Amino acid sequence: MEIEAQKMDFRDESAQTVIEWATKTFSSNLAIASSFSMEDVAVIDMAVTIQPDIRVFAIDTGRLNEETCECAEAVRKRYGLTIEWVFPRSEEVEALERTKGLYSFRDSSENRHDCCGIRKLEPLSRALHGLQAWMTGMRREQGVTRLALEKIEKDLKHGGLIKVNPLVDWSQDQLLAYTMEKYLPVNRLYRSGYTSIGCAPCTRAVQSGEELRAGRWWWENPEHKECGLHGR
Ligand code: SF4
Repeated sequence: MEIEAQKMDFRDESAQTVIEWATKTFSSNLAIASSFSMEDVAVIDMAVTIQPDIRVFAIDTGRLNEETCECAEAVRKRYGLTIEWVFPRSEEVEALERTKGLYSFRDSSENRHDCCGIRKLEPLSRALHGLQAWMTGMRREQGVTRLALEKIEKDLKHGGLIKVNPLVDWSQDQLLAYTMEKYLPVNRLYRSGYTSIGCAPCTRAVQSGEELRAGRWWWENPEHKECGLHGR
């Protein structure tokens, strides 16, 4: 695929057009990755309208908030989807917790990346296996680590899969307006001041004026606020 040409072609296209292209091009070889953030639910809503049996996967890290599980259920029921849940390998989680305890990720950056590797990256690699493309709800406005996102990318971190990010140029107001207009299921964490959805012990509410992903791994530098699922 001529990825450079695709980037140019879709730069000014709407999220719906990008999703329509992706679903027609990849069909069942495309799946949406969902953390049940507002962004992800908006992407699912648009994609289901175009392709009702769109594949959606989610990673159950074992540390998700109850509110996220409830939102996942609301999405599953509303759209009649089978959410393809992926779990970490139990023996790896057992070894991690037995040797380092339940909160090792707070002790060092290395430990944090170890935990994300076991609970998120390894399951993600299995979820992506066999796909040609995956779709996310990532937006540039979410933080410094996401400023260079494109609507269509080649994901070199994951074997050169095509990564589709239809909402990259959406503002927070645009996202809220779409969510309200469509009465989409909303993760209740947003009502408590959260602006990003992740694992319970590594995500907290943010203060007014803080970056949208400031509540993720708040003890780390802003440049490091990715778990390795995304990035180059
Ligand atoms: Fe572990 Fe926190 Fe990463 Fe979740 S976000 S996988 S709990 S380090």
